[in-house]
Amino acid sequence: MTARLLDGNALAAQIRADIQPRVAAFTARHGRPPGLGIVLVGDNPASEIYVRNKLRAASEVGMRADLERLPATASIDDVLAAVAQLNASAVHDGLLVQDPLPDAMGRGAARKVFDAIDPSKDVDGFHPVNVGKLVQKRPTLVPGTPLGVIELLERSGIPIAGARAVVIGRSDIVGKPMAMLLMHRDATVTIAHSKTRDLPVLAATADILVAAIGRPGFVTPAFVKPGATVVDVGITSLSDGALVSQLFPAGHPRREAFARRGTIVVGDVHPDVVNVAGALTPVPGGVGPLTVAMLLSNTLKAAEMQADR
Ligand code: NAP
Repeated sequence: MTARLLDGNALAAQIRADIQPRVAAFTARHGRPPGLGIVLVGDNPASEIYVRNKLRAASEVGMRADLERLPATASIDDVLAAVAQLNASAVHDGLLVQDPLPDAMGRGAARKVFDAIDPSKDVDGFHPVNVGKLVQKRPTLVPGTPLGVIELLERSGIPIAGARAVVIGRSDIVGKPMAMLLMHRDATVTIAHSKTRDLPVLAATADILVAAIGRPGFVTPAFVKPGATVVDVGITSLSDGALVSQLFPAGHPRREAFARRGTIVVGDVHPDVVNVAGALTPVPGGVGPLTVAMLLSNTLKAAEMQADR
């Protein structure tokens, strides 16, 4: 069996096409477009790329998108001041602070900053008020990555209700909200993590297996029930040739891409899983594009919710 590849780029384009007329309608009604403000602290290269993609995607659907850039030497008070300004802004309906913050800001800095964001503008869905609403299945802003996974499953016709789902990873931004969203759609959900015993056996009970770990190729065919849907959330940039050779046999297009560029992005799912799974999200081009699309969806939702208040 060769898995059906779930094309995140195509689905994200569909979502953007659905959003665009609603952005135009909002703009016509309110005399201004929905606005997104992003605070970027420091010069993490991956964050630079993520932020650039988010700003471009927002502009492309007709939103206002502004970047507030702070140096790596910024204090937490500087970041909180930038957040306060966007909280008070009449033209920004959504705001986010790009994770991670510089290490020098200390442990707990991210939590302090996320807690300072106005929950009604919290388009990343990290504020505890929004997390609580999610747990209670109330309307709220939900983190974009797990929301994107749900969109991807639904738009690909993968049944969730009644399915057995295993989510590997229990982070606040992916694993936990992912499990909640699947449960709210009537899947029977198990959350696994680094202390889970007999993980491959557990994972192989899943009709829907979500890997959000951050370890390249961790989910091997032994983790996968034949025909299962496997969602690969992991994103790791690999520059270690030995690891690339372990994952991809000679002649594999990804290995050739590595030889050309010296680095490739890989997920948590081993390439051989394509021979066992029924459906699979590729990396890149799977969950990643949907995360950005759902950020746009959340920004529009925040704008509409605030306008309706
Ligand atoms: P994280 O906060 O580091 O959490 C990783 C989770 O994986 C933890 O719960 C950890 O368990 C679990 N884990 C680690 N080693 C394990 C093992 N050997 N067996 C079982 N579980 C293990 O990471 P995250 O922020 O959730 O991100 C996960 C991955 O998704 C990363 O690659 C990240 O880059 C990617 N990501 C992608 C997108 C996207 O748009 N596609 C968005 C966000 C994140 P413990 O809790 O026990 O430590």
